[in-house]
Amino acid sequence: MNASTKPATAHTARRNREALDSLPPDAERDFEEARRGLVAAFEPPLVEGEGRHPTWDLRPYRFLDGEPPETAHPGLWRLGQLNRIAGLFELAPGLYQLRGFDISNMHVIEGQRGIVVVDPLISAECAAAALALYREHRGGRPVTGLIYTHSHVDHFGGARGVIAPEEAEERGVPILAPGGFLHHAVSENVFAGIAMGRRAGYMFGARLRRGPDGQLGAGLGQTNSVGTISLLPPTREIEATGQEEEIDGVRFAFQLTPGTEAPAEMNFHLPELEALCIADNAVRSMHNVLTPRGALVRDPRLWAHHLDEAIELFGDRSEVLFAGHNWPCWGRERIAEMLEKQRDLYAYLHDQTLRLLNEGQTGSEIAEQIELPPSLAREWHCREYYGSVSHNVKAIYQRYMGWFDGNPAHLWEHPPVERARRYVECMGGAEAVLERARESFEAGDYRWVAEAVNHVVFAEPGNREARELQADALEQLGYGAENASWRNFFLMGARELREGVGGAPTASAPRDVVANLSVAQLLDAMAIRLDGPRAWEAELRIDWVVTEPDETHAITVRNGVLRHRPGRHERAGATLVVERGALDELLLKTAEFAELAEGGRLRVEGDGAKLGELLGLLDEPDPGFAIVTPK
Ligand SMILES: [Zn+2]
Repeated sequence: MNASTKPATAHTARRNREALDSLPPDAERDFEEARRGLVAAFEPPLVEGEGRHPTWDLRPYRFLDGEPPETAHPGLWRLGQLNRIAGLFELAPGLYQLRGFDISNMHVIEGQRGIVVVDPLISAECAAAALALYREHRGGRPVTGLIYTHSHVDHFGGARGVIAPEEAEERGVPILAPGGFLHHAVSENVFAGIAMGRRAGYMFGARLRRGPDGQLGAGLGQTNSVGTISLLPPTREIEATGQEEEIDGVRFAFQLTPGTEAPAEMNFHLPELEALCIADNAVRSMHNVLTPRGALVRDPRLWAHHLDEAIELFGDRSEVLFAGHNWPCWGRERIAEMLEKQRDLYAYLHDQTLRLLNEGQTGSEIAEQIELPPSLAREWHCREYYGSVSHNVKAIYQRYMGWFDGNPAHLWEHPPVERARRYVECMGGAEAVLERARESFEAGDYRWVAEAVNHVVFAEPGNREARELQADALEQLGYGAENASWRNFFLMGARELREGVGGAPTASAPRDVVANLSVAQLLDAMAIRLDGPRAWEAELRIDWVVTEPDETHAITVRNGVLRHRPGRHERAGATLVVERGALDELLLKTAEFAELAEGGRLRVEGDGAKLGELLGLLDEPDPGFAIVTPK
């Protein structure tokens, strides 16, 4: 046991023992499917990195070989055992899965001359390691095509590890993606990226020790890799369901599924192999309608619709089903049953939330009472390892109704610190709250302890006893969670209450992502960094003349708002003339303004002070902001 963590209490231990009895039957079938077709294990499951930490390392998860301990939910423990089965797997003749090289899967389809690679993981280093294992066993075939199933980074970030952009261009290697891919791939993190990044650190337990009392998985896989993120833009977009393409002699039939798990996503079918790629639309867990790291709410109704369409289009012609995460499954009946249940999982959550919402119930009330039908609840792949009934129901409420539950008492609540001060005072002061909370802790009501003591922590951030009790409560909640994201959130909260924030993430975007942002997207991102109050009185008219490629933008700051339009002002206060590449370097902070000016890649015309004023109005957010303590 780590010095800073505590054992499970008797309540938590009992709950985890009881959970064992409530798990679905057929626990072995998943293991058979996860091992089926193994060509070569990934051993040791390690991708070295440049820094102190490896880019990817499954070795610390060997502890999962044992029986579930008191500090872990047995369902989540079992999922970790499945997710760490790593290697090269043959799914069908000429179709290979590379699993356990990152949180996501990479697939290789053999063509006439080479291979089509599907979804090259997060990091170039991991994708290269996966491809190397494939080539070791199947020979050094060249890459003749690349497919991204959707716009999430765990499905495109490792592209450069599979093929160099120069080579792809020279050989005219087609890169396929669903319509709208590039826009969404780069914009996903433009607006709220810093906050999402910080919260993702909680969700994936980035800084937790791997172990029975720490991080033991992330639901979709074990964790995220931390290597070089890249992006090779697609050369061909899939625009319609039913569109067929031939790459290197292999036939593909596509189904667009926008608005499901990602804004730009697609499934595809390989008719010759009777194989169906379902992207991230059906994984071995309930997925997120709203990821707890933060995102726009997804549409579970559309999600269910697209899964139904997939069954209709490909269901009776599919002998193997594979996805962006977890392991595949085989057999027409098994595939049909799995897809039907995944479809109905999202449909049920959607429809029942709406039914109860129309009865006047609020998100947190609905979340507490919705239970899945037994036919779904007893399926391992419908369990709450990544999404949960609780947070998905609240997300559906949010999608339709927003944050407000209609009760005017909640329309104008005090913010956390003000509320906390008043609560603590009302409840007789910090001492009294802690005393009562300790009783609740002894009784095993950790949910209540977390709520009550959070008020003390926010009213008196220096109160050590409060922080410790709060950490203890969050920790027990983490130990008892079947949902990987919940466990990681709870345990990260406990850790930061005990040890402080430390090791905050960096906020820099990957080079390839910045390079593929449009200038308009860069300016949108700049607008949200404008410090409103400091800009109240500012009146600025500045032109940006971007070269290579050429475009012009007229920027105005007025009323505390930065606006931009294509074109130029009639009388700009200043004009920045800048090469597109130099602009990227400024944003990536790999070059200074002065240095680029000296190199002739940037110059200011007119009143340079105006441009300085604009840059001076931009805010520099803290990527390591406080979460479990007041800001
Ligand atoms: Zn994914």
